[in-house]
Amino acid sequence: MKITIFGTGYVGLVTGACLADVGHDVICMDVDHGKIEKLRNGHIPIYEPGLEPIVKHNVEAGRLSFTTDPEEAVRHGLIQFIAVGTPPDEDGSADLQYVTAVARTIGQCMDDYRVVVDKSTVPVGTGDKVSAAVRSELDKRGLELEFDVVSNPEFLKEGAAISDFMKPDRIVVGTDSERARELLRETYYPFNRNHDRMIFMDIRSAELTKYAANAMLATKISFMNEIANLSERLGADIEAVRRGIGSDPRIGYHFIYPGCGYGGSCFPKDVQALARTARSCDYDAKLLNAVEDVNLAQKHVLFDKISHYFQGNLEGKVIALWGLAFKPNTDDMREASSRTLMESLWKAGAKVQAFDPEAMAETQRIYGDQEGLALSGTKEQALKGADVLVICTEWKEFRSPDFASIAAVLSEPVVFDGRNLYEPEMLDRHGLIYYAIGRGHNQ
Ligand code: NAD
Repeated sequence: MKITIFGTGYVGLVTGACLADVGHDVICMDVDHGKIEKLRNGHIPIYEPGLEPIVKHNVEAGRLSFTTDPEEAVRHGLIQFIAVGTPPDEDGSADLQYVTAVARTIGQCMDDYRVVVDKSTVPVGTGDKVSAAVRSELDKRGLELEFDVVSNPEFLKEGAAISDFMKPDRIVVGTDSERARELLRETYYPFNRNHDRMIFMDIRSAELTKYAANAMLATKISFMNEIANLSERLGADIEAVRRGIGSDPRIGYHFIYPGCGYGGSCFPKDVQALARTARSCDYDAKLLNAVEDVNLAQKHVLFDKISHYFQGNLEGKVIALWGLAFKPNTDDMREASSRTLMESLWKAGAKVQAFDPEAMAETQRIYGDQEGLALSGTKEQALKGADVLVICTEWKEFRSPDFASIAAVLSEPVVFDGRNLYEPEMLDRHGLIYYAIGRGHNQ
């Protein structure tokens, strides 16, 4: 099958690489010339485990190529995936300018039937807008070509994107066209052999499914953070509570970890966008608004703990920070809790010595020569000359550090853990004072 992907970000590049890997003939198009240049030279512009060899292998096999030429892109694929960004607008709603720009490009360049598949996360009703944009460009050209619009939201997780795409829990396809349905079935057939993972529905329901999924996951996190904050005040341990409730199969153990707030390119913007959609149809989405409010507050919890420890005087303090990415196994720092923390620390006059296994270049790109920021080459280097240690991301390599040397090197033997990586007794034994999230006394 000939396939075109618009957008070579986390979703577009993974989609393109995985579709090529099962034998499809894929071209990826991006307006960012620098990105396409890098990809053509064999450089992967993002960090995603396992992505590089798949891209290389399929480029060499002639099944995956890259272009900035919209005409070439539209000419190539019978299926045209839209996988461009949908960042939040000023009012929190999803900014659809990139999605509609691609739809117009397709309308301007297509010369035969095309299936336009929206993989970007978009508000309910976007399918109609995409359809109208393609149609209006065809009208301008005086053409009456047939096309179908499909909503096919993506559920991959950064850090595990390849396996999520290759072995999806479900493939949601929203369409009212039998022809498009069969073409999508064929496209995804290689990922669907073990059992039928395809769930067909109407376009609006597919669009809402993506927001509902992310909003549900964000709700679980904010709920646990609320209970964690209560635990602290009540002298209970959220980790015991987590195990206690997770054992109920109606609740389950998945995704109920408390922490210093969720970030990333999806949960914050998708919860906001859904709340905004609710407002636009005169519905007061109380729960969604609360999920966001709890998260915004949670991103300040670590700072409050540090500030409280230093009795409000952070001037000149040196904070070692482990973990900058919004979660492990990615270099993505969009809406990361580490950013809220660092920015608050700098405002209070503290210095940050930061280390992340993959997000150092991204930190440099975002903050450049920011005063009060020193990038450390290793987690050990970040500790040198620091007063206390703070952890923002649960990278594997932070899970079993040398507590004795942490205690020896810090000027104050204190660890603030935004991800509850350790057992308090472990740190206690090494003479470290431990502040985690929602862990009873001493918080
Ligand atoms: P991204 O910002 O990493 O990449 C978007 C890419 O689209 C950029 O390279 C940009 O240059 C390109 N682009 C913009 N306009 C274009 C145009 N007219 N033609 C071609 N390319 C264009 O975004 P992402 O993280 O891959 O997310 C893409 C969409 O998928 C978003 O709607 C997002 O909400 C959704 N999504 C993301 C994830 C995730 O984990 N990142 C998961 C599921 C869904």
